[in-house]
Amino acid sequence: MIRNYDKLIFELSKEGRVGYSLPKKEVDGGCMCCGIPENLRRESKPELPEITEFDVVRHYTNLSNKNFGVDTGFYPLGSCTMKYNPRINEEMAAHTAFTQLHPAVPVECAQGALEVYYNLAASLSEVSGLAEFTLNPYAGAHGELTGLMIMRQYHIQRGDLKRTKVIVPDSAHGTNPASAAVCGLQIVEVKSTANGTVDVEDLKPLLDDTIAGIMMTNPNTLGIFETEIPEISRLVHECGGLLYYDGANLNAVLGKCRPGDMGFDIMHINLHKTFSTPHGGGGPGDGPVGVRAGLEHLLPNPQVKKDENGKFYLQCDEKSAGYVSNFLGNFGVIMRAYTYILTLGRENVKMVGPLAVLNANYVKESLKGEYYLPIEGICKHEFVFDGLADKSTGVTTLDIAKRLLDYGYHAPTIYFPLLFHQSIMIEPTETESKETLDEFIAVMKKVAQEAIENPEVVKSAPHSTPVRRLDETTAARFPKTTYKQMKG
Ligand SMILES: *Cc1c(COP(=O)(O)O)cnc(C)c1O
Repeated sequence: MIRNYDKLIFELSKEGRVGYSLPKKEVDGGCMCCGIPENLRRESKPELPEITEFDVVRHYTNLSNKNFGVDTGFYPLGSCTMKYNPRINEEMAAHTAFTQLHPAVPVECAQGALEVYYNLAASLSEVSGLAEFTLNPYAGAHGELTGLMIMRQYHIQRGDLKRTKVIVPDSAHGTNPASAAVCGLQIVEVKSTANGTVDVEDLKPLLDDTIAGIMMTNPNTLGIFETEIPEISRLVHECGGLLYYDGANLNAVLGKCRPGDMGFDIMHINLHKTFSTPHGGGGPGDGPVGVRAGLEHLLPNPQVKKDENGKFYLQCDEKSAGYVSNFLGNFGVIMRAYTYILTLGRENVKMVGPLAVLNANYVKESLKGEYYLPIEGICKHEFVFDGLADKSTGVTTLDIAKRLLDYGYHAPTIYFPLLFHQSIMIEPTETESKETLDEFIAVMKKVAQEAIENPEVVKSAPHSTPVRRLDETTAARFPKTTYKQMKG
């Protein structure tokens, strides 16, 4: 009989089996819990699985093999920039000189870590054209919140208290309106044109003295470069608002153009997309925020500064928008991003954007016969299909996503952006080879063909994964995280 390590760990349990032996107690009379007050001691034995260490190792190794990550296969998840994470980043992030540094040590003992922070912030200023960065926020959405807090404080400190609205395009990432709401701002939506860019004519009547600013994503979530930025910048600044740049996907323009040069006042960058770091499933991340000259004092406390002798110190500005994190951001991610930038070097960083754009356009052009491309023309780092070109098959975007799993590919982002009914958003990133892209294109074509010739096989996919289609809402809303819950 085959020993099945798919079984839950409680089902592998066998009474009396142990994975670890504790040393014999050396103190007479006492018990293992002698330091614990009587009323807090447990009365019955804990219900834990009894299992050997070896079985635990096999169980979790087998579980991990069922997972899919960017190290397993192609992961073209639009908007998420699932690029290769070089192993040198991990070595640097795991270096004990950093991992064993307590975040509360005096600054004299943390000069190396502060130098990494300072240098990465300076590199981000260089690639973005903004004056100064904080690395304190822990994620993209956290960066958005921080940036909007800065925007609010800018108006409040000028005594301009009416500006409580922020303009967000209808194509924006869901975190944009969410962050604005958390910041206490009202959201005003601006529409997109048929070309997928912000509609300047729709924007004009929205601009008045209650507008704090506009949040823009460029390239936007359709992967299209916002060509009207100079005009939008003029209009919004004229009405007294600020321009916020959602730079989660800076990948597309890295080395080509800079938000600071486009007229943006505040931005965030997702280190965990553009500058590698394994992410997904909620973390880890880091969302640095940059500001143009004149807004530096509003950055969150503490700020890392360098004195004339090259010594690093922390500064707290009383005009700052406040504290957004304990300590100084997610240091492991900061270390990976810094390593990534140094490994690429100034010349190669300039290749990131152009290669990401080339790969996306190659996949788009190769597949636009089989899949419906609602917006023609050159995209940036990602693009969106609106389902299959042949709408008669009844095969949906969800079916296609599930069928791709059978072929060993992670599904692209689906049903986002909301502008189309059957959105499939594909982002190959610059780190994939032409061979990988060609194989993916062939599989996407095959699925399109199956949809016509044998739609049932696509509609009932996946067939080869450990679990079939899940009730995703229930799985997310009511997860069963204990053995008792699963059995009960
Ligand atoms: C990923 C992303 C975000 C949010 O970043 P998190 O780190 O997941 O909070 C915001 N905006 C855009 C455009 C994104 O792609």
